[in-house]
Amino acid sequence: MPRLNPDLDRLRPSAISDVFDMANRLREDGRELFDFSVGEPDFDTPQNIREAAKVAIESGQTRYTAVDGTALLKQAIAAKFRRDNGLDFSNDQIVVASGAKPLLAVAIQAVAGQGDEVVISTPCWTSHIGMIELAGATARLMETGIETGFKMTPEQLARTLNPNTRLLLLCSPSNPTGAVYTADELAALGDVLADYPDVWVLSDDLYEHIVFEKDHFATIAAVSPAVGKRTLTVNGVSKCYAMTGWRIGYAGGPSEWVKAIRKVFTQSNGGPCSVSQAAAIEALNGPQAYLSEWLAIYRQRRDLALSLLRDAPGLECAVPEGAFYIMPKCAGLLGRKTPSGGAIESSADFCRYLLEAFGVVTVPGAGFLCDPYFRISFATSEDVIKEGCARIVAATRSLA
Ligand code: PMP
Repeated sequence: MPRLNPDLDRLRPSAISDVFDMANRLREDGRELFDFSVGEPDFDTPQNIREAAKVAIESGQTRYTAVDGTALLKQAIAAKFRRDNGLDFSNDQIVVASGAKPLLAVAIQAVAGQGDEVVISTPCWTSHIGMIELAGATARLMETGIETGFKMTPEQLARTLNPNTRLLLLCSPSNPTGAVYTADELAALGDVLADYPDVWVLSDDLYEHIVFEKDHFATIAAVSPAVGKRTLTVNGVSKCYAMTGWRIGYAGGPSEWVKAIRKVFTQSNGGPCSVSQAAAIEALNGPQAYLSEWLAIYRQRRDLALSLLRDAPGLECAVPEGAFYIMPKCAGLLGRKTPSGGAIESSADFCRYLLEAFGVVTVPGAGFLCDPYFRISFATSEDVIKEGCARIVAATRSLA
């Protein structure tokens, strides 16, 4: 066989895919599973958005669009940034892509390469690390845990930034921890960044509308205007509008950075799907009432899961302030044994035991560069939460 590109060796396989593969094998064998691994809303895309897509198809909006998005969608995005975040962007400061994922990947590639460091706190989303590795840059990790609410401190950031740092990657609300930085906390990070004018900031705001306390969401470009001039604020319609399959992400930031991203997309992805862009315009400009309706449902699910998991000896849960994830710490289970004698030495061991013996799918912390933690997504029905959490409790109690 011809050889594969050895550059890909630096990219670690996604820990989330491992779990999906194992769960799929069990599903094919007819096992009933209680799935807490899925990182997407279980709601359907609202009717008005689906209708807008149909109109787009019927009116012939089926051709290539501008690589960085249609003028109408950019208008809707500019209005959204102004309305929700108090940020002002002109058309050349906005870029639309086929999901936030490729946009983040290219945004990193545009500012960091070989020899450069990208600073990120852990636990972090698997793909953020993968994107840094794909760009050829090095991830400089700042470890956080349940004790600090999964948030980096300004002192920690100050200790970590160095002359090789090209980029700070922020994600709030966080996948996988649900931590949400307050405006004051972001301003304090901004003060540290003031001493590092050569560092770009990438703010992944994908879960902006899934924040449980009113007016708690803040984004660094808005609270720290000096840093804002070098910040790319990334958002999308996937999580908030239940549009994961439509593949629309967008960003606003410095025109130089946006131009570089556009240049890469010109040669690789091309423009996003024309029909999805029309749907995204409706999502951003149309009625927003379901955002608060869904939020209330997510809050109920979060509280239900937390109240059930309280009965699990050896697990410790922080209350997530946003997104739809809980990241229990399972240090109390380490060194214990399953009834068949298997040793629990890491979150991966416990997650495997949960899946094989109890049919519960979760994601081990290694995928988020942290242990001993694992991730539970509560973007699923109350029935699954009740039965799945009862099984998690049973699993913890079954260990000797
Ligand atoms: N950022 C975060 C933090 C995410 O969790 C995800 C999806 N899991 C994305 C970005 C990617 O979103 P999209 O569906 O728009 O590609």
